Amino acid sequence: MSQIVVSLHDVAPATAELSRRWLDLLETLGVRASLLVIPGRWNGQDLSKSPAFVDWLHAAESRGHEIVQHGLLHTRDKNFATASRRSQVGQLLGRGCQEFWELPYEEAFKRLIQGKSIMARCGFQPTGFVAPAWMMSEGTLDALRDTGFRYTNNHTHLINTQTGAKSLVVVTSQRPRSLLSLPGVAVTNGIAKYVETRGKPLRIAIHPADLMSPRLREANLKLITQFLSRGYESVTYDEMCTNEFPSSVEPESSAPKKIQLT
Ligand SMILES: [Zn+2]
Repeated sequence: MSQIVVSLHDVAPATAELSRRWLDLLETLGVRASLLVIPGRWNGQDLSKSPAFVDWLHAAESRGHEIVQHGLLHTRDKNFATASRRSQVGQLLGRGCQEFWELPYEEAFKRLIQGKSIMARCGFQPTGFVAPAWMMSEGTLDALRDTGFRYTNNHTHLINTQTGAKSLVVVTSQRPRSLLSLPGVAVTNGIAKYVETRGKPLRIAIHPADLMSPRLREANLKLITQFLSRGYESVTYDEMCTNEFPSSVEPESSAPKKIQLT
């Protein structure tokens, strides 16, 4: 059966109300979502100091939604900025959210562990990590492998962090200003048709603020309904990775391989 992942980005105390309303809507469609949770301080609020929000996340998890680690602070740290073209491109695409784009291995490792321990203190053991704006340095990919994360993804691929295996999975996002994902409702629907007619897996990325625009809200809900009504199964990222990387179900016995970036 073809699978669809609906991910809700930037789930945090600062977006609690919008996140809750989105999840309510998604649940009326029968969606089990992957919730991308920011572990650190973001927009003036901390996950670890928001017990009611943490309780809400636990309740969501118990209903079958997935908790995914999403960055640490979700903000670019200018201490790691360079004058390189890569940094400039990162700023253009990430618009200040590209926290892991320029990080060397050691700093990425530190932030992943820090995020993980905050999540653990709140009672969560995420198997996946998604970098803000889907932008990661090579050092981040190595650090993800070494901190025990099972998977990550970017705007084109699911990535098995332990083996480096990649699987192309189209993602749609209705964000009008996004350069990283497919812009606009018309283009999104064109891609949706392509994916649907070939039975390929699909990801639909939703941001809390999409709820504020009736057009974006309806476009997202319509797209999800369209796929579910054609027999697509709503799964979490973790479940889609099990399906896309079947060999990774068995624990790795050998030492992790070095990831080859292409
Ligand atoms: Zn984000």
